[in-house]
Amino acid sequence: MDWIHCNKCFSQLEPGITLHLTSCGHMFCNNCLGNGLKDSTCLVCRMPCSAMKLVPDMKQEIQDYFTDPEELIKKSCDVIQFQRQHRRRLLSYLLQSTKKFYAARNELKRVTEMCQKQHTQLKEYHKRIKALETQLANQSSRQVSPFNIPISPTNNISPSFIQTTPSCKRPTKSTPYSTHHYQSNLLTPSRISKQRSANFSAHSQILPERLQ
Ligand SMILES: [Zn+2]
Ligand SMILES: [Zn+2]
Repeated sequence: MDWIHCNKCFSQLEPGITLHLTSCGHMFCNNCLGNGLKDSTCLVCRMPCSAMKLVPDMKQEIQDYFTDPEELIKKSCDVIQFQRQHRRRLLSYLLQSTKKFYAARNELKRVTEMCQKQHTQLKEYHKRIKALETQLANQSSRQVSPFNIPISPTNNISPSFIQTTPSCKRPTKSTPYSTHHYQSNLLTPSRISKQRSANFSAHSQILPERLQ
């Protein structure tokens, strides 16, 4: 604080000297001021002003004028760093939120397009189902189902109908002799007689030997 001095007598701070600061920015020692500013006018610039005693607990904005500028710059740098750090943190969060928002918007767009496609496809399926149902109804009205014909004792069922209806179809007569299977394995009367005659001839050849 080697620069602080009375603007009138150039006295510096030393024991027994107190300084006063005027609202116009000039400083005067207690010896030059005496009982106060004469007519509330500055002793240097002659401007109307007020004066206050310089004390350690004066306002911060007044104290700043008596603080080393290097300290003020350092403090300003700390303030800049502090504010920058918080601003960066907030910006990072906002950036991430924006990215998430765009990703969600793209996903929403994709899902919406997929839903629209599926909706169109569904409408197409409905049309096809309706067309097929109409086609089926037309076919059903043209065909007469056999189960729709009423069967009652009063109705005469013609033999030809019974023959042509699958459910009433009479099974074809099958006898042991009519199928090929039985024909090949079962013995017919003519075959029995043939076998008998063969056995008889074999026995007739043995018998005479035994008898003799
Ligand atoms: Zn002075
Ligand atoms: Zn002044």
